[in-house]
Amino acid sequence: MDNLIAFILAVIIIGFFMLSYLKKQKKIEQQALESAEKGKLRSDGPQSQHPHIDANYCIGCATCTLVCPEGDVLAMLGGKAVIVNGYKCIGHGLCAEACPVGAITMVMASPSVGGDMPYLTPEFETTIKNMYIVGELGGLALIKNAINQGRDCIDNIAEKAVSPGGARRSPDVYDVLIVGAGPAGISASLRAAEKKLNYITIDEGEIGGTVAKYPRQKLVLTSPVEFPLYGKFKKLQLSKEELIAFWHKVLERADFKVRQGEKVEDIKKGEDGIFTVTTPNGQYRTHAVVLALGKSGSPRKLGVKGEELPKVMYRLLEADHYVNKKILIVGGGDSAVEAAMGLGHQVGNQVTLSYRKEAFSRIKEGNTRRIQESIRKGKVKVVFNSVPAEFKENSVVLEVNGKQEEIPNDFVWIFAGGQPPTAFLKKIGIGFGNQDLTSTGSKEAKQGALAQA
Ligand SMILES: Cc1cc2nc3c(=O)[nH]c(=O)nc-3n(C[C@H](O)[C@H](O)[C@H](O)COP(=O)(O)OP(=O)(O)OC[C@H]3O[C@@H](n4cnc5c(N)ncnc54)[C@H](O)[C@@H]3O)c2cc1C
Repeated sequence: MDNLIAFILAVIIIGFFMLSYLKKQKKIEQQALESAEKGKLRSDGPQSQHPHIDANYCIGCATCTLVCPEGDVLAMLGGKAVIVNGYKCIGHGLCAEACPVGAITMVMASPSVGGDMPYLTPEFETTIKNMYIVGELGGLALIKNAINQGRDCIDNIAEKAVSPGGARRSPDVYDVLIVGAGPAGISASLRAAEKKLNYITIDEGEIGGTVAKYPRQKLVLTSPVEFPLYGKFKKLQLSKEELIAFWHKVLERADFKVRQGEKVEDIKKGEDGIFTVTTPNGQYRTHAVVLALGKSGSPRKLGVKGEELPKVMYRLLEADHYVNKKILIVGGGDSAVEAAMGLGHQVGNQVTLSYRKEAFSRIKEGNTRRIQESIRKGKVKVVFNSVPAEFKENSVVLEVNGKQEEIPNDFVWIFAGGQPPTAFLKKIGIGFGNQDLTSTGSKEAKQGALAQA
């Protein structure tokens, strides 16, 4: 009898654990499904690489989910790996390398979004002759790809830069103008220096591009790569600061010709085939242009008086750098709300969030809950129906419901969206996908269109 009771008890206990395990598993799968839906690969703007999982081969070992340095791009669903946060993939490809059965391949944009990619020849030339695109803007993420493309693109340009007689072209016109000083632009610039081309590099920000904007001490994963004017760069892992310091060292040696803090606003090609590149500081004439713009785009500015002050910023890297400060955040999207909450939780900060509408309408559910909590705890003060009228050295003027209020201020962050680089490419006339070439898309037709451009 005792044995029977013990047996029944054991069955109940095992059944209970089995049931809670299955319930938990179902919940995880449900969450993965929801994330998979929310985190689908974006179809706006150029796409980077991302993993393609062949479910027929996937054995459900989950190795791919463990090796991804970005964390939660992949998850297990129904015993198979699936993409749950595709937009976070920056193309390391470690999942594909680690998969024991080769079920993962790294692919570029799916055919359905191909129309959003600029058309490029294998030499990185766009539909405009002598205008090239390298690096992440062309759809391929990662520092090593940017470096390889920047270097190889200049090799092609260098071949054309010297006339058959050996004489260099017009001395008052650059051989090549490189836009962007991220890894692609740096590599292109160094190769241009190595090839003794008359070049100039222009960046609206600072040297290093996206890498310079990584959080402090971020570990950067790279692969061995042939770096112009240096040779084989073999490190596989290093901090962001070490990588930037290395680039600066090589660039200094090469007497890097760069204009920082200057945005390229327009590029026009004359009938003589020479490009005129316009920035707020003036115009440059050049035979060839290399666009190494990356894909993060430029933050949208408000055009408010005082916006040029150094205390006005558009990107928050590390909230914990700012303590005991009076801060204004402008915007009503997730980035603005997250920055306000992050800064509001640092010691002694007084954070005001100014939003032009009367309520938040487009933020994530979690943020709606969390910002209410921050307001309730006095960590963030939200001023709806308000816009900044002026930024001053130690204060800001806010226009609230038509009335002006001046509040003390140390720092301002503006999150008003951004202008994607695709808009700039379209403005200067670069063709996308096959649509701007011909309806047949044949190789000959593309070549014809290229020749005319
Ligand atoms: C958070 C994060 C972590 C990452 N980690 C890694 C990693 O560990 N390993 C790795 O290999 N890759 C990593 N990547 C990807 C890598 O940073 C990018 O693939 C790489 O920086 C792309 O280089 P790029 O030169 O093409 O563009 P970018 O680095 O984006 O540089 C573009 C430059 O162009 C300038 N620019 C743009 N428009 C204009 C204009 N109109 N006028 C003048 N200048 C302009 C910008 O100011 C910028 O300096 C990461 C990316 C992110 C976002």
